[in-house]
Amino acid sequence: MVPGAAAAAGAVAAATDPLSQPTPLAELAREASVCTRCRLAEGRTQVVFGNGHPDADLMLVGEAPGFHEDKQGLPFVGQAGKLLDRLLEGIGLTRADVYVCNTLKCRPPGNRDPMPDEKEACEPWLFRQIALIEPKVIATLGNHATKQLTGKDIGITRVHGQEQQLTLGGRRILLYPLYHPAAALYTPAMLKVLESDFARLPELLGRELEAPSPIQLAPEPEVPAAVVQLGLF
Ligand code: SF4
Repeated sequence: MVPGAAAAAGAVAAATDPLSQPTPLAELAREASVCTRCRLAEGRTQVVFGNGHPDADLMLVGEAPGFHEDKQGLPFVGQAGKLLDRLLEGIGLTRADVYVCNTLKCRPPGNRDPMPDEKEACEPWLFRQIALIEPKVIATLGNHATKQLTGKDIGITRVHGQEQQLTLGGRRILLYPLYHPAAALYTPAMLKVLESDFARLPELLGRELEAPSPIQLAPEPEVPAAVVQLGLF
């Protein structure tokens, strides 16, 4: 075990255990715990659904469980988890105030990158989590989560720290891309940027979001009677 992993796991477990609460989110976690929608079900120890406050204003979404997460069933344990705890503490929050999860709920073998069909298979779990938690801000941690939730193939180095309004899980939210704590652990320059981006979260959490623009319907076309009779309209 990575030094400090046990302490970090203790802090994470202190946050709400989704399976112990009689809530719709706990029901969803129970449903996900037996998911076999993709090949990752074969090699996992357990599904790592996510944990934290079921009505959190801030959701943090990483890529996929790693070795320790797979063993303990909790997201962001080990050194990256400790760094995440420290960053949260810096803005006056703990794991119990936020909700932490990954785009993929099962560990890819050898921590390889998620495959497109795995991401597609797992995405409905994340969208259902978002719909139930109703966060104001979703901070994506790293490249994969950012690309998946923005739907754009733009790397994290270009979009970190730049918030954008999106509709996700049927809800208007502020999406805020951040460097992944695991990457920042070994790169001091990246850690500085992550700390400075993280420090903006309280301001983003207090921000009023614009209402979604109403859908503009195109005017009804005038359809010649002959075309209607052909069954094309
Ligand atoms: S990664 Fe997601 S879709 Fe695949 S088995 Fe695990 S929970 Fe199901």
